[in-house]
Amino acid sequence: MKVLLVFAHPEPRSLNGALRDVAIRELEAQGHEVRVSDLYAEKWKSEVDRSDFPSISADTQFKPSRASKAAFTTDTLTQDVTAEHEKLLWADTLILQFPLWWYTMPAILKGWVDRVYAYGFAYGVGEHNDTYWGDRFGEGTLKGKRAMLIVTTGGWQEHYSARGVNGPIEDLLFPINHGILYYPGYDVLPPFVAYRVDRIDQAGFADVAERLRERMRTLATTPPIPYRQQNGGDYLIPSLQLRPDLVNPGDRGFALHVNRQGAAE
Ligand code: FAD
Repeated sequence: MKVLLVFAHPEPRSLNGALRDVAIRELEAQGHEVRVSDLYAEKWKSEVDRSDFPSISADTQFKPSRASKAAFTTDTLTQDVTAEHEKLLWADTLILQFPLWWYTMPAILKGWVDRVYAYGFAYGVGEHNDTYWGDRFGEGTLKGKRAMLIVTTGGWQEHYSARGVNGPIEDLLFPINHGILYYPGYDVLPPFVAYRVDRIDQAGFADVAERLRERMRTLATTPPIPYRQQNGGDYLIPSLQLRPDLVNPGDRGFALHVNRQGAAE
């Protein structure tokens, strides 16, 4: 397999740095090819602004989506962005690795998504009309590839459980797993989460490292989260609501978009 690991931690000697090395060593031991986008080390520019689109004249109002579409169509995206496109198209598996910061990814990684996910590459793909709403949520440029998150948290596993004060981890990660990875077509594997890591000892580290090695060994065979495909018949178009007959009265929230029944069949 060809694996792209996008790494978002400012310190190579961090726990995240150590876990990244564990993951890479195990993947390479399994014969996989690994490339890394180390966002802090590469001083990734995280904010979308006018300088991303030098062909826009100074007196034109800057509209990010429109500019992105024009630059993608005319092949004038900046070199740092097109280099990431090349890596994403090369890889058959994408891993995003980050510490949970304020319940989500660090800003630099969000900025990688904002800039790399260009119009025409990650969104605005396929026909858009009243009966077909584009190739997305299970379809799109990255269909057929796998993706997963490696996340560390200060909070305990219980804090992220169904009744935990932080909210369930699958809900917190839903906007990334579903909105960022499933959207352009990835099959999304369950995340690897290491909880309560701030004062982890050597034994705890050894345990986390072994769990991570196991996830790397099973990257190709782990069943993805069974999200419902937008164009698979479960949603009404153009309202994009889940068909009422697929919902139990009172059901709501992110879990609706996971087809547990289909997964069990
Ligand atoms: P490090 O600080 O590098 O390491 C943690 C511990 O791991 C070290 O103290 C050490 O004991 C051990 N360790 C490190 N390297 C090794 C090694 N090679 N071998 C053995 N042991 C090692 N947490 C939440 O749960 N929810 C949040 O919303 C949240 N928001 C945050 C926001 C910010 C801005 C920050 C800074 C932190 C936040 N945290 C939050 C906590 C954060 O998620 C954790 O601090 C982070 O996940 C720890 O990962 P790290 O790589 O930075 O760990």
